[in-house]
Amino acid sequence: MSFPSQTAPIAPIAPPSNSATSIAKLIELFSAIQGEGANCGTRQIFVRFAFCDLRCHYCDSAHTWTAPDTCAIEATPGQRDFEIHPNPVTLAHLLDWVDRQNRPRLHDSISITGGEPLLHATFLKTFLPQVKHRTGLPLYLETGGHRPELA
Ligand code: SF4
Repeated sequence: MSFPSQTAPIAPIAPPSNSATSIAKLIELFSAIQGEGANCGTRQIFVRFAFCDLRCHYCDSAHTWTAPDTCAIEATPGQRDFEIHPNPVTLAHLLDWVDRQNRPRLHDSISITGGEPLLHATFLKTFLPQVKHRTGLPLYLETGGHRPELA
């Protein structure tokens, strides 16, 4: 997810259904060092959602533009011991997977990224308060900002 300051016009593709409150399509979840932005250099839990309705020419995450049949969920923070789970995932499973990553004092924050995470705005309205309550970690939303009506 990068800020789409130099993009082609928004592609005429339909975003995914935004009505789901308890399921969402993910790309991956893992623990890593943030490489850009205000939190650069800190360890975050990355929750990467599927779908993006932009087509930035410099995109390094084109695999997020659509949703795969499965997503990759890291079992141990930073160990890249990914489990493969079917998409979509449930709210309960996602909360459990974040809990599993949330070792004491290991992470600075949780990156909510994609793709374009606000294409899952309805799900996020349920997920974000719960994950904030369960982990106590700050949330870091990585959005293109081109869909303010969903924020
Ligand atoms: S994920 Fe979407 S907004 Fe981010 S750089 Fe790629 S095409 Fe652009």
